[in-house]
Amino acid sequence: MATTIGIDLGGTKTLAVRMENNDLVDEAKLSTPPSEDLVGNAAAAIRAVWTDDIEAVGVGVAGLVEWPSGAFVWGPHVAGTGLQVRSRLADLFGVPVVVDNDANAGAWGELHLGAGRGYDDMLLVTLGTGIGGAIVLDGRVHRGGSFAGEWGHMLYQPGGAQCDCGKRGCWETVASGPALVRLARDFIAQNPEGTLAKALGGEPPTGEAITGAADGGDETARNLVAQVGEAFGRGLCNLIAVLDPQVIIVGGGLGSVGESLLGPARRVAADALHGGSHRMLPPILVAALGPRASAVGAALLAEDLATGRLSLRVEQRA
Ligand SMILES: [Zn+2]
Repeated sequence: MATTIGIDLGGTKTLAVRMENNDLVDEAKLSTPPSEDLVGNAAAAIRAVWTDDIEAVGVGVAGLVEWPSGAFVWGPHVAGTGLQVRSRLADLFGVPVVVDNDANAGAWGELHLGAGRGYDDMLLVTLGTGIGGAIVLDGRVHRGGSFAGEWGHMLYQPGGAQCDCGKRGCWETVASGPALVRLARDFIAQNPEGTLAKALGGEPPTGEAITGAADGGDETARNLVAQVGEAFGRGLCNLIAVLDPQVIIVGGGLGSVGESLLGPARRVAADALHGGSHRMLPPILVAALGPRASAVGAALLAEDLATGRLSLRVEQRA
């Protein structure tokens, strides 16, 4: 067991944790300056929880991260491209550093300390501003070439709504916080005197306000949340068809809404599953570590690095 730091480096906020023997002993939240200084932002977060006995540092970044080099390639919500985050942080702090995609780090956290405990084959699907995720196969994160699990950009609807990634009709254009807001905005434009407009107090809809109205019993809000849940469930069914996981853990801000969204998602996924009357839908569970999953998982990856369970040697392919 080692003392390590885990960082969740997002587009607007960064969370740093220090862990000893799998226990979280310190944490710090920082707002991330919207600059291209990704390394500087990570370094500030590391310093916020640093102690002299740190053996390794793990960083999860929202975007495409090359594995195992730890270079940040690109992300729609984080500035900068082609940054050698891992080697520069290792030079700065003089300890081993591992840098991974934030969802991969989150999956590692959920697998060991969260809702994925006891499973070997697990998908983490994060539902928030978009859809991200990670694949755990036989107890290991499956990264493919580097970027596996970016299923928010599976084609859902040819010619559909514009996605943040620049393409059209991706899964996350119909299942995400912004998708829910768009549904509510369209409904209110058609029904300016309806109960939903009143429930939101005449304010422009936000994801939180809509799910709040749904929890408060507004029928329209419940239907819109269910509609997003159904679109989410159809995509989950495709993931099950490909990977047949033992469990699906749903994280992210909208994922934490719970049954009003996951109930419809499960129903649709069970209906759409091929051979559905002869097999069980895998459990679809809410993530247990909440907003700390990626930082905690990054600290656990750092521990794996410090104790030799993880090697970042670049393997030569024949
Ligand atoms: Zn997309």
